[in-house]
Amino acid sequence: RFSTAAAAEEPISPPFQVQDKQLLIGGKFVDSASGKTFSTLDPRTGEVIAHVSEGDAEDINRAVSAARKAFDEGPWPRMTAYERSRILLRFADLIEKHNDELAALETWDNGKPYAQAANIEVPMVARLMRYYAGWADKIHGLVVPADGPHHVQVLHEPIGVAGQIIPWNFPLLMFAWKVGPALACGNTVVLKTAEQTPLSALYISKLLHEAGLPDGVINVVSGFGPTAGAALASHMDVDKIAFTGSTDTGKIVLELAARSNLKSVTLELGGKSPFIIMDDADVDHAVELAHFALFFNQGQCCCAGSRTFVHERIYDEFVEKAKARAMKRVVGDPFKNGVEQGPQIDDDQFNKILRYIKYGVESGANLVTGGDRLGDKGYYIQPTIFSDVKDNMKIAQEEIFGPVQSILKFNDLNEVIKRANASQYGLAAGVFTNNLNTANTLTRALRVGTVWVNCFDVFDAAIPFGGYKQSGIGREKGIDSLKNYLQVKAVVTPLKNAAW
Ligand code: NAD
Repeated sequence: RFSTAAAAEEPISPPFQVQDKQLLIGGKFVDSASGKTFSTLDPRTGEVIAHVSEGDAEDINRAVSAARKAFDEGPWPRMTAYERSRILLRFADLIEKHNDELAALETWDNGKPYAQAANIEVPMVARLMRYYAGWADKIHGLVVPADGPHHVQVLHEPIGVAGQIIPWNFPLLMFAWKVGPALACGNTVVLKTAEQTPLSALYISKLLHEAGLPDGVINVVSGFGPTAGAALASHMDVDKIAFTGSTDTGKIVLELAARSNLKSVTLELGGKSPFIIMDDADVDHAVELAHFALFFNQGQCCCAGSRTFVHERIYDEFVEKAKARAMKRVVGDPFKNGVEQGPQIDDDQFNKILRYIKYGVESGANLVTGGDRLGDKGYYIQPTIFSDVKDNMKIAQEEIFGPVQSILKFNDLNEVIKRANASQYGLAAGVFTNNLNTANTLTRALRVGTVWVNCFDVFDAAIPFGGYKQSGIGREKGIDSLKNYLQVKAVVTPLKNAAW
């Protein structure tokens, strides 16, 4: 374990010793059955951080057996809900205690600014755990009136073994969004992390055991999608699968679930979220918010405001100011204080983003600023802006998942509603206006799972998140997330003396 001394002012900087590199199965760190490992890379340099055990189908089998045993025979679903709640509360305390170590590991493996990980994301993980700890002993069924002399109970039971597949853009937050509700409801879990970011989930799961979680309740398998991920989605003994990632992979997961045992599926997928800025807007404020909506987390957010629609009356001023803001953005080593943007996650994403920039130029959009890599080492990309973007361009339709802002012009409310909704996605939207009627019209007309009015990326444990259309199925966080992890059982008993 590395020291956290003085970490609040001085981030813990790599290289430091990474201890947890094996698979976590049945409460123990073990090598993969094949003995294979893969390397996880530092996005700042492309150099190896650590060699991590590589799980495949055989390891998923071992992890599912451990989770099944823990569910069928272990104490977790049988202990009082209050005791489950207390374990999750102790876990939250340990997350806080290890805040800076978790943040340093997250930044090293993912490339996000340390301040963001340490001050926003890890604290949010602890907050989420307390939120779900609070639910654990408040999940209960109903007694419903039914015709005829019958006593009818509706029981809410844990669903069983939950398979969970998470992406690399927010490894710890995605862990919390998935594991929190599953555990609060009394399920056991097999989690497959993203191959780009395996480290923080292993570390935090160790803390979960330190908090008192019984062995086998959480199992963490590092590995690749087509091997470990597909084995989990198609496993006959997994009762539920929750996935976050691209829409294409989400469709594969849904198909694997259907072709195997028809396990229930929730999907949190891609987006191309509109951010609509009306002509009554304070332009400086709108520019800052739209900048944050797109560039936050290196542009690697499923809900990024990646179609910035600006009213024609303020369009030119907006583009000029957006350019000035992007040029001021501090890009560099994410461990350095004051850095707003680190490197992209890996070579694949880096090249994909540069390809999209090329498409943008070729299709006639106006490259306002940026457009190239930054430096010659690691996966840094210049904050990039295109103006004069048209709806039919690839950069206006597909998820770029990088620091590339596309600015589109509109002149009428009905027109922008139609254009904003003309997308295969429906994850989120931003609306910027001082006019209450305009805001109300937009919030009701937009076919998306979240609308942020005069704000963006406001997340809270209690606020449900998920998509319309091809952005997904189901909701995470909030009360809605519990439904994903509960079975409903009706129990009907005749009443002998109905009069009483
Ligand atoms: P992906 O969807 O392929 O990967 C997400 C997770 O799914 C990873 O854990 C991966 O190992 C797993 N996976 C991959 N193939 C699988 C399969 N056949 N069966 C089961 N699991 C599988 O995403 P990616 O390749 O890392 O990124 C590609 C694009 O996806 C990005 O450019 C971005 O547009 C999008 N993305 C979206 C999110 C999001 O939060 N919605 C997150 C990451 C990536």
